[in-house]
Order: sequence, then structure tokens, then C-alpha cells
Amino acid sequence: MAIRRVDQVELKGKRVFVRVDFNVPLDEKKEITDDTRIISSLPTINFIYGAGGKVILASHLGRPKGKRDPKYSLAPVAERLSRLLDRGVSLAPDCVGEEVKGQIERMKEGEVLLLENLRFHPEEEENEESFSRALASLCDVYINDAFGAAHRAHASTEGMTRYIRTVAAGFLMMKEMESLEKALLNPQKPYVAILGGAKVSDKIGVIQNLLNKVDTLLIGGGMAYTFLKAKGFEVGKSLVEGDQIGLSLNLLEGAKGKMKFLLPSDHVAAERMDVQARREIVSNEKIPGDWVCLDIGPETIGVFSDEIKTARTLFWNGPMGVFEMEPFSGGTFAIARAVANSQAFSIVGGGDSVAAVNQAGVADKIGHISTGGGASLEFIEGKKLPGIEALRKNSGEIG
Ligand code: AMP
Repeated sequence: MAIRRVDQVELKGKRVFVRVDFNVPLDEKKEITDDTRIISSLPTINFIYGAGGKVILASHLGRPKGKRDPKYSLAPVAERLSRLLDRGVSLAPDCVGEEVKGQIERMKEGEVLLLENLRFHPEEEENEESFSRALASLCDVYINDAFGAAHRAHASTEGMTRYIRTVAAGFLMMKEMESLEKALLNPQKPYVAILGGAKVSDKIGVIQNLLNKVDTLLIGGGMAYTFLKAKGFEVGKSLVEGDQIGLSLNLLEGAKGKMKFLLPSDHVAAERMDVQARREIVSNEKIPGDWVCLDIGPETIGVFSDEIKTARTLFWNGPMGVFEMEPFSGGTFAIARAVANSQAFSIVGGGDSVAAVNQAGVADKIGHISTGGGASLEFIEGKKLPGIEALRKNSGEIG
């Protein structure tokens, strides 16, 4: 069933609840260090107040574990959003309750209210019924624009949709789905996927799924070392998940003859994980027993970049090394530039890879930057995302 879009809904004078993903990174001073997610939600917000709706925004931020904690207040987001929209944005004291209801009753058309962190209530993640009903009672229309939270069946992404007549997707949600579907359902070949990050175990599902779809899989980051170990290399103190070695070997065997499954051939190894530590470029055969590999080396960058050049579809998730530390960031930035320079339709997902393309200044050359790391992986994996299914189920007849 088709999903209704925000511009297919009557919004004038309506209380419009918009589930957004404002889960942005904050530094110690509670300054927002990357506002990609806020900026990405602006088209939907602008559209709703332009159409005369009362905009009620709701999001989670961090992991306050079901308790009110000022560290996870959405106050910095309200301030940034107000600046970006160039209009006042009030922050409600909570996301449910009489006071919030009163505040919403007093709202006028075109006003914007941000509810306080949904996860201050444990019932949000528990998808609890009375909490879902309480959220639903705040509005006439429900819009979900939080692709980054769509892989969770929470009260604000799934539960509350059962108690609202009019539900629809925001523009960001639609764009995410359309771009990922393009890579998933009908990819132009060659299709090259690049996976990195810390753990194989997090990405087993997506690797299994990609084996049948991609022409080339490039693996970097910490997860590469479990595969290299499975192939019999000594990887020193590099990150290895012992319980994933067997499965990794099966994946390598399964790929044989069907596709290219490339692992790094050289590395930036260091005495320890420290910017001051001694470091060296080493090949797979020469990884010192008590050193740790923290980035892909120049030969690997060359091989991976050549593969990326030939691609017509690219999917990238996860850094190639410990890119937070400058001496180990070269591989990730080189891959960011290679992806940006390719002629392929490229999708980049996951906080770290998105940060890397932003920091490399090449974000405008990426086909689609996904705001959802886990959600984009699950989508590519072929899983049904509860937040999207809830919209599909409740969109009713459109037209
Ligand atoms: P993930 O959340 O699984 O995408 O993993 C991201 C993290 O993986 C980043 O914080 C990186 O620092 C880390 N990482 C990448 N490469 C390595 C490596 N070779 N050894 C240890 N950690 C790594």
C-alpha cells in the first residue's frame, strides 16, 4: 500500500504532530556539533506552517534511560531550530501531560512548539499503550519524518499511529525511502558497497544481504580484522571478534565466484591506540604481534578507490579506521573523496561516514546522505522498518 505524504493532507488549523529525528551530537558545552538532522527536517516543518498547521515537534536525544535528565534536554535544539527557521520555537516542559496540552491549545496557526525529550519516559521505548494514547491525544494529524528512528517500534514511531486518523510521511522520510529503494531494488551496475566501523557482528545481516546484490564489497575498519584472522593472518592486537570468525569464513566462502569481496592488504599499525604512539605502514603478512591496526594503508586506499571509480551505484557505511584520531583518519577521508568523485549514484549512511564527508567538504557531491545509520542498514538488509510499516498500514486510501 502506498504511503501518504505530508502534502496530501489537510493541515490548515490542525494540530500536527511531527516525529522528527533531532538526535544530534552535542559536545561537553552542549553545543550542537553537527546539525545535518535538523536541517534535513526543515522542508517538512516549513511546509506545515506554510499550510497553516500548528507544528508540534517531538524527538528523542541520546539515551536518558527513561529518566528526566537535563543533560539530554532538547533546549539546544530549540535554539538552533529557531535560528534556522528565523522564527520563535518554544520548548515544552515535557512531551505529555496537562501543561503541554494547555500549551498546544493556546497555539495559533503557523506556530512551532518542540516537545521535551520523548525518552524521559520509559514508556516511549516500551511502546506502551497509554503513553501512545497520551501522545496521540495531542494532535489531529501525525507526520513521521524521523527516518533515523524508523527501525524502532516505539510509542512515537509506531504505537501512537494506531490512535490517529490521519498519518503521513514527511519529505525527509520519503526522500530516504526513495533513495534507498533505488539502491536496493534497481541498482545500476556495477554496484559497490563499502562497509567499515568497529564490529562485524553489527553488520553480518547487511553483508549477507549484500552478497546477493553487489558486484564488489569493500571491507575496512575494525571489522576487517576478524575477516583477515579468518583467512589465517596474524593481526596482532587489532580488533577481532573471536566468536564471529567462523561466520566470517562462511561469508568469504559464499562470495567466491559470485562477486569481489575485498579486504585491506596494508594498514596503519601503531604500538597502541594513541596519537603519540609509534606507527608504521605494514602489509597483511607483517603485522607486528603486539601492535594494533587502526587504519587502511595506501595500497588499500588505491585498490578501493579504483573499485569505487568503476561503480554506478555506491553504498557506504562505517569508517575505514579510527578516524577520530588524525593519524588514523587518512583512509576514511580518502574513501570519502573517492565516493564524492565517482560518477555513481552514492548513498552514505551512519554518523561517522556522514561526519567524514562533511569534514572532507564533499557532502554536496554525494547522491544521498542518509540521516539514519542503523535504519539505512536495516533497510538495505531488506528488513521491514516498524516506523515505515506503521505509515503504510495507516495511510488509508489516498487520492
Ligand atoms: P560503528 O559504530 O560500528 O560504525 O563503528 C565506528 C567506530 O569504529 C569508530 O568510532 C571508529 O573509531 C572505530 N574503528 C574504525 N576502525 C577501527 C579499527 N581499525 N580499530 C578499532 N576501532 C576502529
